[in-house]
Amino acid sequence: KGLIVAVDGHSSTGKSTVSKILAARLGYTYIDTGAMYRIVTLKAMREGLIRNGNVDDEKLKEVLPTIIFGFKYNEEKKRYESYMNGEYVEVAIRGLEVSDNVSLIAALPYVRELLVEKQREMAKEGGVIMDGRDIGSVVFPHAEVKFFMTASPEVRAQRRYKELIEKGEQVTYEEVEANVRKRDYIDEHRETSPLVRTSDAVLIDNGDMTVEEEVEEMLKIIRS
Ligand code: C5P
Repeated sequence: KGLIVAVDGHSSTGKSTVSKILAARLGYTYIDTGAMYRIVTLKAMREGLIRNGNVDDEKLKEVLPTIIFGFKYNEEKKRYESYMNGEYVEVAIRGLEVSDNVSLIAALPYVRELLVEKQREMAKEGGVIMDGRDIGSVVFPHAEVKFFMTASPEVRAQRRYKELIEKGEQVTYEEVEANVRKRDYIDEHRETSPLVRTSDAVLIDNGDMTVEEEVEEMLKIIRS
C-alpha cells in the first residue's frame, strides 16, 4: 500500500507539474483537487449562480450533489483531463473566467465539506499524490509526506501568463499578476481552511529550481 503525499502551496507554483511527474515515477495516482473546485465554479457560472461577487447559496446547495466529477488519463496527451457529468471540461475550467471566480466558490464551507469528503474517499487505498491548498492541513493531517510549494508572485504570474498566451487567451501580464495576488489573498484569508503551511510540511521554494531538480529533491524526501 502506497503513501499519501500532500502537495500544498500558492497558485501557479507548479504543484501540478511536479505532482504529475512524481505520480508517474512512483506509480501513484495523481489527484488534482483544484480541478474539483474549478468544476464546481464552472457549474455555478453556467447556472447563473454568481452575480457581482455574490453566490446564490440556496441554489448552489441544490446543484452541488448533482455534479459528477470525472478524471480520465489521456494517453496521447499524457495528462489527466477533467469531466463534469461526462462532459469534457478540461479547457473550460482553466480559463481566466473560472480562475477569477474559483476562490469565491472555494471559500464556501458547504462546498469544501463535500469536496473534502470526496477527496478522502478517492485516496482511501493510499498511493496518491494529492495537490491542493488544504491537503496537509485538513484533508489528510496525518499524510506521511507533506510539501508546501512557493515562489514569488512575479515568478508565478510570468509562468501563468506564458501558459495562457500559449493557449491563445487574450490577457495581459498585469491582469494575470493581479489574479495571482488576488487568489493568494483570498486563499490565505478565508475563514474555512485558509492556505497555511503546517509545521511538518517541507518547504520547496522553486523560484530558481528546474523541474527536474525539484522532482529529485522531493523523491529523495518521499523515499527516505
Ligand atoms: O490549484 P488550482 O489553482 O487549480 O486551484 C484553483 C483554486 O481552487 C485555488 O485558487 C483555490 O482557491 C481553490 N482550492 C482550494 N483548495 C484546494 C484546491 C484548490 O481552495 N484543495
